Amino acid sequence: MDGKALATSIRAVVAEEVAALGHVGLATVLVGDDPASHVYIDAKHKAATESGIEARDIRIPADATEAEVLATVDQLNRDETVDGILVQLPLPAHIDETKVTYAVAPAKDVDGFHPVNAGNLYLGTPLHVPATPAGCMELLAAYGVDPKGKEAVVVGRSEIVGRPAAMLLLHAHATVTICHSRTVDLAAHVRRADVVVAAVGIPGIVTPEMVKPGAAVLDVGLTRTEAGIRGDVDPAVSEVAGHLTPMPGGTGPMTIAMLLRSAVKAARFRRGELAFPGS
Ligand code: NAP
Repeated sequence: MDGKALATSIRAVVAEEVAALGHVGLATVLVGDDPASHVYIDAKHKAATESGIEARDIRIPADATEAEVLATVDQLNRDETVDGILVQLPLPAHIDETKVTYAVAPAKDVDGFHPVNAGNLYLGTPLHVPATPAGCMELLAAYGVDPKGKEAVVVGRSEIVGRPAAMLLLHAHATVTICHSRTVDLAAHVRRADVVVAAVGIPGIVTPEMVKPGAAVLDVGLTRTEAGIRGDVDPAVSEVAGHLTPMPGGTGPMTIAMLLRSAVKAARFRRGELAFPGS
């Protein structure tokens, strides 16, 4: 499953939508100097700018106080030129991530991490959905894999990937199993799956022997090693799987494309073109 190609076509549509809306503003907040976060933020900015989105790059020193970060978020919530807000995680240890996540206005929370957005996803009326799992669903759809009635196994239960991926697959009528670090016999679960989402961060944890022939396998895990970027899925799985995302070039580019799509959605909410669930 070519995430790079699909992301390119989604980004082209986003650019048309941004042009039609006239203006879409996305603000990113990066606290501190985590090198991986810098890479992610730079990639998001480049993609946003290429789509015509006005991307505001707010960088706050690592020693900023929690109150300063919260004040920045509050200012962006009230800024009429900002449609979407993204606070890059992880935050430095002295800042409470939950507090900051809760502080972002739900309609501007393009990452879909606020409990209102997580709750709406749980209820099946999502507003903003975390971009990585949304990208996984988009890849399945593009390659004609309908999860309805299928066994889906999600490995990983984080709030930003595993859990929302499981919820989206459930809403798409898959029979969903979520595996995690305490799962006994991971292989037995994965072997049953028609759809596998691997979001762990352990290179090659999903091996060819664990995969049902013909299954669709989405590799989310990303580990930087001396030999380069490694996914959670052993590349030899391509000999067994029906569909597999490459690493890199699979779920990563889709994450960025879905984030841009969320920014357009946020702009529509703010213009009253879309209704906020429950309103
Ligand atoms: P995370 O918060 O560290 O979650 C990892 C999950 O893996 C946890 O639920 C953990 O279980 C589970 N796990 C750990 N060891 C396991 C084992 N031996 N067997 C089964 N499950 C195990 O990570 P995350 O934020 O979800 O990210 C996961 C990976 O995806 C990372 O490599 C990250 O870099 C990558 N990522 C990629 C993209 C992309 O665009 N491709 C986007 C986001 C993240 P417990 O809950 O029991 O601890």
